[in-house]
Amino acid sequence: MTKPKVASDWLAGCAGCHMSFLDMDERILELLKLVELRATPITDLKEPDEEGVDVGILEGGISNTYNIEVAEKMRSRCKILVALGDCAVFGGVPAMRNFAGADEALQRAYVEAESNDASGMVPNDPELSTAVHVAPVSDYVKVDIALPGCAPSADAIFEVLASLAQGKIPEVKGELNDWH
Ligand code: SF4
Repeated sequence: MTKPKVASDWLAGCAGCHMSFLDMDERILELLKLVELRATPITDLKEPDEEGVDVGILEGGISNTYNIEVAEKMRSRCKILVALGDCAVFGGVPAMRNFAGADEALQRAYVEAESNDASGMVPNDPELSTAVHVAPVSDYVKVDIALPGCAPSADAIFEVLASLAQGKIPEVKGELNDWH
């Protein structure tokens, strides 16, 4: 039987969801019996290298034009698209800066932050003001499965992928610690 191909990519977010995937540890061997891992934290390829991926996983929210391009590419290459983690599902913690607005967020990051070792000026880069806003993946492309959590547990990720590999739509619960 042909195993479904799985690929993941990483948008604007921290590495937490990535690390949670790796936290499967030896269960990855179990997972490998069910799926073929293409571009994932395991293979360290950062995006699917081919068409016809069965399950695509996107981590992180969208905060710039490059993220949009990656999301659109993943959508076009993957039959099922999974938004992994709070950032991808609804913007998560990074989206809190949306409430401040671009000018205030940039002022706080570049001028007021105590740890800032820059010149105390907001850089003159037009990309910055568009990069401040964080949006969920579903604002730009269709998402088939949303797996919230910051980060979702390795068990939750395993369960979703194992279910999809067996042709089932996984039952996704809302909270990381509520998975089992
Ligand atoms: S959901 Fe949490 S762990 Fe995942 S990318 Fe966002 S902040 Fe990081």
